[in-house]
Amino acid sequence: METKIHHTIIVGSGPAGYTAAIYAARANMHPLLFTGIEPGGQLMITTEVENYPGYSDGVHGPKMMEDFQKQAQRFHTDIRYEVISKVDFTGPVHKLWTESEEEFQAHTVIISTGASAKWLGLQSEKRLMNKGVSACAVCDGFFFRGMDVAVVGAGDTAAEEASYLAKLCPRVHLLVRRDTMRASKIMQERVLNNPKITVHWNTETQEILGNEEVESIRVINNQSLEVSEIPVKAFFVAIGHQPNSAPFANWIDMDDQQYIKTIPGSSKTNIPGVFACGDVQDRIYRQAVTAAGSGCMAALDAERYLVEHHII
Ligand code: NDP
Repeated sequence: METKIHHTIIVGSGPAGYTAAIYAARANMHPLLFTGIEPGGQLMITTEVENYPGYSDGVHGPKMMEDFQKQAQRFHTDIRYEVISKVDFTGPVHKLWTESEEEFQAHTVIISTGASAKWLGLQSEKRLMNKGVSACAVCDGFFFRGMDVAVVGAGDTAAEEASYLAKLCPRVHLLVRRDTMRASKIMQERVLNNPKITVHWNTETQEILGNEEVESIRVINNQSLEVSEIPVKAFFVAIGHQPNSAPFANWIDMDDQQYIKTIPGSSKTNIPGVFACGDVQDRIYRQAVTAAGSGCMAALDAERYLVEHHII
């Protein structure tokens, strides 16, 4: 049987992918969208989003992604809960394979695979994963209510996770490796004014201790070199993200951190007919609203490509 050539395949289902789907579907491009491993993307593990225009009272990340998905489906986006693991961008018709080796073909591809949480790389972090070690306070914080916990990181994510956990836990230890935080001013203020959050400046984690579950952490002050142990039942890692660009590595130009390079002012990659949007190509802004905006750009760029090549 001959493989159908789709107008547009969208890989990824965060704000960028769903926005691309909404625009592509409304332009009669009949998009096929692969959700990837984490349908909805990073917003599924976020609490309150207060800075997405239109939600004047704020909205929970998962609720927002449900709304995005519904809107994409309203215009008949074909959504598949599968992961694209391999591509071949040799010819004008692009080939993609799911993890189960099913082949799909498309004239245009929109990559919106986002980014994933980074880990410290400690052996104990791996060993105690899901036994108190987590990268998602919203998913796992509930299990540690009434207990002392630690968060590592100093960006908005760490600030947000620490504030969220402070609602459930008597003490939250925030481990900051420098003498300053990277988080936005408003988020920093929330952390610094919260009596349940203790900020440990210039502090790095040496080891997470415990046999079957997290019991404490051993930390070092990188100025005084003093080593101490803090008893905690959970350890939340919030130190940033890396782009999910691996399946495209041999085809698409990327920077030194594997973020996909796009031609400035567009979503075009080095491969004609392949576009990228959202966090997988954005190391600077990384906001839901900028991801959504770039998803719109990718759909419009793809539509233009299809028109220029007399495909639609
Ligand atoms: P960031 O890259 O902004 O911050 C990562 C933090 O982790 C930095 O403070 C960094 O420290 C620290 N870090 C990195 N590696 C280590 C390590 N090995 N040990 C200890 N600390 C480490 O990532 P975020 O995930 O916080 O934020 C990503 C983007 O998402 C940002 O643009 C942010 O503004 C946005 N965001 C917005 C939210 C909102 O508006 N509600 C919520 C969450 C995120 P150092 O500073 O020393 O480099």
